[in-house]
Amino acid sequence: MRKQPIFLGLETSCDETAVAVVQGTEILAHRIYSQDHRQTGGVVPQNAARQHLEILAQLTQSTLQDARLAPSDLDGIGVTAGPGLVAGLMVGVLFAKGLSHGACKPLWAIHHLEAHGLIGRLYDPGLCFPFLLLLMSGGHCLLAHVHKVGHYTVLGQTYDDAAGECLDKVARAMGGEYPGGPYIQRHSQGGDPRSIDLPVPLQREKSCNFSFSGLKTACVQWIDSHRDQLPARRADFCASLQRVMADSLCARLAHGLAQTGLKRCVMAGGVAANTYFRARLGQTCEQAECTMTIPPPAMCTDNGAMIAWAAHERWAAGIAPNSFFDVRPSWPLQDLSSAGVFGCD
Ligand code: AMP
Ligand code: MG
Repeated sequence: MRKQPIFLGLETSCDETAVAVVQGTEILAHRIYSQDHRQTGGVVPQNAARQHLEILAQLTQSTLQDARLAPSDLDGIGVTAGPGLVAGLMVGVLFAKGLSHGACKPLWAIHHLEAHGLIGRLYDPGLCFPFLLLLMSGGHCLLAHVHKVGHYTVLGQTYDDAAGECLDKVARAMGGEYPGGPYIQRHSQGGDPRSIDLPVPLQREKSCNFSFSGLKTACVQWIDSHRDQLPARRADFCASLQRVMADSLCARLAHGLAQTGLKRCVMAGGVAANTYFRARLGQTCEQAECTMTIPPPAMCTDNGAMIAWAAHERWAAGIAPNSFFDVRPSWPLQDLSSAGVFGCD
């Protein structure tokens, strides 16, 4: 059998420095360094970029060592070119360009959200196009019709906050740590999901759009007015928050499935690591007789394997590599098209 090509993936778009080596659908090695921004209460872009700069070369070397490979063994490199924080993206892209040039390896500019969406195909090689993508991360929340690599129709996105952003901000208001999603999931255990009355976002709107800022405000108000009861009602509150978020996510997903008639769905992004959401969204798919693919929780949050895999997908789709591209801090998913190749050169 022909040897599968080996791709290196580099990710520096936010607060995770991540590197991975992927051969076919096998992840040969991957390392993630998660930055700690607790002191500043959130990600300060310049601090994040400085930390990427300090660690990226060493992390790449260690990841290649884990895979027992040298740069000369690679068949290609993928790097996140956007969307994300400009300074962090520049660190990754400049490093990748240097490595690509020095080792004479082709380079692919990777769209971070496309990478989140495509990694489902690494875990489920039977998952073919087209499919519906429900992407829920810290900065984005959208439903897209994925026609093929590089071809997306965005059916709806958030009017305001992303799902992860809502969880992060509510957890902070509760005095919990960042990121808020895992904190809320942990504290929801044993709670009654129907005990606290919180508004289900966009309950009357039949669309694929999302909204989480109203729910966030309602949560912060509830926390402020129940401070003394919070320790005793933390589990009920977290379980109720997850329940109303899931009600809204499931309604949006059901609408997207009905609108497109698609029978395959991929759930991606950090919020897809949530056990409760996975179960609830899985039920929605089952009711619509649709198969659902969800990467393992560790591969839902930002990682290098999804970037390496997206480079593999672009290579497999016959999309030419390109070293002459700039970073795209803001880069709508639908701007990716074969005509513009990466839309960023
Ligand atoms: P990403 O932007 O894709 O790296 O995902 C980060 C976001 O995912 C943050 O907003 C986290 O709070 C959220 N997140 C991570 N793990 C979980 C979880 N288990 N449940 C809910 N949200 C999560
Ligand atoms: Mg992400």
